[in-house]
Amino acid sequence: MTDYKLLINGKLVAGASTMDVINPATEEVLAKCPRADKNQLNEAVAAAKAAFPAWSRKTVKERGEILMKLSQAIQAKAEELGRLLTEEQGKPLPAAIGECHGAAGMLAYYAGQELKDKVLKEDDKVKIIQQFAPLGVVAAITPWNFPLLLLMLKVGPALLAGNTVVCKPAPTTPLTTLKFGEIAKDIVPPGVINTIADQNDLGSALTSHPDVRKVAFTGSTATGKKVMESVSSTLKRLTLELGGNDAAIVLDDVDVKDVAPKVFNGATMNSGQVCLAIKRLYVHESQYDQMCDELAKCAKAAIVDDGMKQGTQMGPLNNKQQYEKALGYLDDAKKNGKVVAGGDKMSRKGYFIPPTIVRDIPDTARLVQEEQFSPILPVLKYKDVNDAIKRANDTQYGLGGTVWSKNTDRALEVARQIESGTVWVNKHLDLPADIPFGGAKQSGLGKEMGREGLEEYTQSKIINMAKA
Ligand code: NAD
Repeated sequence: MTDYKLLINGKLVAGASTMDVINPATEEVLAKCPRADKNQLNEAVAAAKAAFPAWSRKTVKERGEILMKLSQAIQAKAEELGRLLTEEQGKPLPAAIGECHGAAGMLAYYAGQELKDKVLKEDDKVKIIQQFAPLGVVAAITPWNFPLLLLMLKVGPALLAGNTVVCKPAPTTPLTTLKFGEIAKDIVPPGVINTIADQNDLGSALTSHPDVRKVAFTGSTATGKKVMESVSSTLKRLTLELGGNDAAIVLDDVDVKDVAPKVFNGATMNSGQVCLAIKRLYVHESQYDQMCDELAKCAKAAIVDDGMKQGTQMGPLNNKQQYEKALGYLDDAKKNGKVVAGGDKMSRKGYFIPPTIVRDIPDTARLVQEEQFSPILPVLKYKDVNDAIKRANDTQYGLGGTVWSKNTDRALEVARQIESGTVWVNKHLDLPADIPFGGAKQSGLGKEMGREGLEEYTQSKIINMAKA
């Protein structure tokens, strides 16, 4: 897996120029990646547009069969793709291979879905049908934390519904997407899937392109707002999966020793670069000291290293920009709170940040207010659970959240009051393919996954017939 090409109109092509992709564990150049220019972007959209009529005329079953082949091909190459994913993204190899299996599983799920017409009403006088028509060309834009899985959340439903796609990964993790394009080349008709790579410079040309009918975007809230603006002139359909600052609320009845490692994993998985990671932790004053101590133990025991090394639990952050941002949060933590584990820059090459636990930090600190997207967890004390709920909701974000308690009725009562798209109780990051997922407030718009995630790629159309 050393040669990389864009996929445009069924052909693997070189980019107009190239760009370096850096291995975040070594800071060395991993690969020269083709970089598309605006002409290639236009060619990719034109190819997708030209492929749309024939692809959309196939039956859902036919498209499902092709999607299943794509799923199987990814499954067969999961180890190879996983290694590449670790090298470009940084996550530990087992997690990277797991992401590839997850990506294949997502395609397999959509391959088995149906899009039958729904009869909404029928009597002697009338029959009203709801039909789900494809939209046309979909732009699938992804971030760098789960490049392959997040792409399949878009490609699966888009293709099954009869659309064609142009995929655009983030500039620091384009390689697995380009390899996906190579795999797709031999399975889908030319133009149905196209891949381009850029240096963060083609996004707006793609989202504002008049021939793109829907934008499916995952990334930061700031970029999501720009995307929303750019689709407004053509009123494109839009799904936005954006940032989060998810709170975990631990009720005062838990077994701290049991919950602490689960919360720690929820906060530090993928080195904290998860939109739905636990980013703020609220703990009752009666268990606060014990929870901080247990979390510190977990942090001190975690193995932080190159994701390629066996036994690594946490790899580096994905890129220099994110790394420097995280160093800023470490400074903030030291200034405003008390660091009980981690906290210092690691003296080695690579964008490594140690898992860090911060206590006695005010709600006004940057680490609490902003999305840190790194393994630095602020632990906040509360007396009254209503106060914890209020503080948890005091944010522009509303992606996820967790509640921990031995009493599920109490936990449910709290979960109901969290303003977010998903709340887990006594677990975290369980995302079944058939359950819709999406953000509240400024964490997103629309849904991915499940039936709702499929309908987002269709135009609902009502046919209202008078009976003779
Ligand atoms: P980002 O917003 O910087 O970039 C995301 C993608 O948008 C990249 O492909 C980038 O090249 C592209 N882009 C940049 N400028 C653009 C523009 N003007 N128009 C269109 N596209 C443009 O995000 P990131 O730093 O790569 O990812 C991290 C963010 O993603 C975090 O905020 C995280 O919470 C969020 N995220 C959300 C979810 C979710 O499902 N809600 C999942 C994963 C990540």
